[in-house]
Amino acid sequence: VKPPLYIITPTYRRPEQLAELTRLGYTLKHVPNLLWLVIEDANHTNRLVAQTLNRIGVPYEYLVAPMPEQYKKTKRAKPRGVSNRNRGLDYLRANATEGVLYFADDDNTYDINIFEQMRYTKKVSMWPVGLVTKTGVSSPIIRNGKLDGYYDGWLGGRKYPVDMAGFAVSVKFLHTRPNATMPFKPGYEEDGFLRSLAPLQNTEIELLADECRDILTWHTQTKKNPAAQVLNKRYVNTNLEF
Ligand code: UDP
Ligand code: MN
Repeated sequence: VKPPLYIITPTYRRPEQLAELTRLGYTLKHVPNLLWLVIEDANHTNRLVAQTLNRIGVPYEYLVAPMPEQYKKTKRAKPRGVSNRNRGLDYLRANATEGVLYFADDDNTYDINIFEQMRYTKKVSMWPVGLVTKTGVSSPIIRNGKLDGYYDGWLGGRKYPVDMAGFAVSVKFLHTRPNATMPFKPGYEEDGFLRSLAPLQNTEIELLADECRDILTWHTQTKKNPAAQVLNKRYVNTNLEF
């Protein structure tokens, strides 16, 4: 039997939410032995989200983890999805013993092959992510068969200049790092979390996707469609349940 995969998906209410979760959910439906941790940046669960998750039929837990007020109020960049992902880590610390965790934002695109590759991660695995920054891709660089730095349009002084969609972590390894956490620091979420897994040698990072020759995950972003903005409103004279 395959080791379980724990897919941590931050989500939040906006007109595109149910569409994003539907698309991602049917991708995950192709993947066996998976638990989908859908964690909403909200104080309460939403009936329509629960209904959507039930309809898709992927095994899931639906939790909430609101962004702290101090970050919601700021006019600067917000730490999007951080409280959600940390809630997911808490869930795994309390409920999981083996397998692998992966942070899958609700708006990205995933080739299902990456899930079978990440499933056997011993500590941390990494691979390229498409559509990241102006350079178009973020990727570990392999030289002479070894991890030798990263390619990314924005390095930002990071030790691990990787995208959220570009790494997975073993649950057993997470258990050996009880203080590992994602910082509320826009732009440095991945780096901060991976640093918090120290000690971690470069030789312990497994490189997937045909030794980083393939792109199997993409940081797609959904365009705000003005027509969709009314989807959150209550419709009069229709049968829609909003
Ligand atoms: N997100 C959230 N609360 C927010 C904004 C975003 O929980 O206020 C979630 C969102 O659903 C996604 C993740 O956090 O899964 C990253 O957000 P987004 O895709 O907007 O960031 P970007 O990809 O543009 O960096
Ligand atoms: Mn996104």
